[in-house]
Amino acid sequence: MGGQTAGGRSRGSFGPGALLSIVRGAPAWTRAELVKASGLGRTAVAERLDLLHRASLITVNEPVLTGGRPAETYSFNADVGRLMVADIGGRHTRIGIADLDGRLVASAEADLDADDGPGPVLGYVIERMRELIHEIGLEEWRIRGIGVGVPGPVAGGIMQRPHLPGWEGTDVPAAFGEAFPGVPVVVDKDANILARGEQARDPRRCRNAIVLKVGMGVSCAVIVDGAVLHGAHGAAGDIGHVPRGGEILCRCGQRGCLDAVASGRAIAAKLGEQGRRARTSREIVDLVRGNDSEAIRLVREAGRQLGGPLGFLAAVANPAVIIVGGNLAESPEPLLAGIRETIYGSYPPSLTSTIDIVASTLGAEAGLAGAAQLALDTVLLPENVDATLA
Ligand SMILES: [Zn+2]
Repeated sequence: MGGQTAGGRSRGSFGPGALLSIVRGAPAWTRAELVKASGLGRTAVAERLDLLHRASLITVNEPVLTGGRPAETYSFNADVGRLMVADIGGRHTRIGIADLDGRLVASAEADLDADDGPGPVLGYVIERMRELIHEIGLEEWRIRGIGVGVPGPVAGGIMQRPHLPGWEGTDVPAAFGEAFPGVPVVVDKDANILARGEQARDPRRCRNAIVLKVGMGVSCAVIVDGAVLHGAHGAAGDIGHVPRGGEILCRCGQRGCLDAVASGRAIAAKLGEQGRRARTSREIVDLVRGNDSEAIRLVREAGRQLGGPLGFLAAVANPAVIIVGGNLAESPEPLLAGIRETIYGSYPPSLTSTIDIVASTLGAEAGLAGAAQLALDTVLLPENVDATLA
């Protein structure tokens, strides 16, 4: 990705930030390799390396033998700063601190109910971030960026008509900006950051992908030709409130939405009708893992329901893969089986036979990994790096 950015720039604007994008693409580079990869002259490369080195953005490694003369090599220094990341879900929130490679160095989680509104939820997240910073002894000036996933569509950092009381119009970057002045804040909906995490892990496979997040609610992201789609109001791919029929009242006020019939919330309600108790997706997953036949049946049925709108979305976006994440996918087999049943069974092979339907391999911390990538996309954007060096 960095290489593309660098390669697409004219030579005149090929600053140190663009060279850093190349350096980040491999563990170590000799100066000769960087001259070749950048198309810049030796002097220009040397000048840019010097600037990056003085800002501690790169490290210079001991000379290694390269077919004759020993040459020193250059590596990106992911420890020069830290990112703060949060994955705020409908019922569950994860918070973390990552290095500039997007690797988590600390994390925490809590059952937070987004229905409580943005004030208490964002307030808690900010407070917990401060505690994490303190716990690991991080100096606040080392924080380079903040990446946040929120449970609803976002455009320009502002929450758009989420089906959550009180969130519409919330300026998420402003809330974090007040707590951490001067630190860039990037926000996107939860499924989009999950998609960004999957994309960072395997860019080739995720070049065209649908990423579904199933927890207590249903959220979905679409990647087409390498770009996570946003749309006019940040709601591209939001299939949660597509009508599926039936009379079950959805939290959005309509009846029979996908979210009302195929989410963790829907399964918990059905278990509740049978006198069973499962308050969270985790508790449903525990039942599945314990081989509870009714829980397995309900999760599989939710998968079948999800398959309908997903198949239609696949006909639009033509993905190579549908990746299923979220807490309910932590024991993914019945969910995947239901989705596959509908997609391969109800749609013609010409539309769906080339689509792999798999579980996310990033696990519970996928959202945090994605939030880190989201922040890195901004923090290490070549023009932003050049601006901080100037
Ligand atoms: Zn709805």
